[in-house]
Amino acid sequence: MPEAGIAVTLQSRMYETKAWGVVNQPDFINMCVEVGTRLTPDELLEALQGIEAQAGRHRSYKWGPREIDLDIIFCGELVINGERLKIPHPYAHLRRFVLEPLAEIAPDFLHPLLGESIERLLHRDVNPPLLLIG
Ligand code: ATP
Ligand code: CA
Ligand code: CA
Repeated sequence: MPEAGIAVTLQSRMYETKAWGVVNQPDFINMCVEVGTRLTPDELLEALQGIEAQAGRHRSYKWGPREIDLDIIFCGELVINGERLKIPHPYAHLRRFVLEPLAEIAPDFLHPLLGESIERLLHRDVNPPLLLIG
């Protein structure tokens, strides 16, 4: 993603997970990356949506199958509660498919609203276990 002004600095493995929210659909593959960028959060969201479009994302129904989905989970301590952009991602702490890959790259990171580390949030065991691939 260097052309978008986004440099990946850390990345987790890929996890194959059962669908969350709408369960009667194929498994998903999830991973987390840490990036460095000079873009503002709004610009970053726009860049990620551009990458999704380039990768051929088609909209289906909410939480349905998709070719790619790039979400901003955290941006340091920053809290944004806008119409188009919410940071931290409002469901991150409830999704094992987010917390598990995140714990690989940032186990001690504190959720800015909950004050709990990723590792602790993960061990609250909110979701069923995952199948690890790769
Ligand atoms: P979820 O947000 O529950 O993971 P989703 O990723 O399937 O659902 P999308 O259809 O990809 O939802 O995105 C819907 C809208 O969410 C986007 O158009 C964007 O404006 C908004 N949005 C709000 N906060 C964020 C965020 N932190 N990261 C990405 N998109 C966000
Ligand atoms: Ca998402
Ligand atoms: Ca999304």
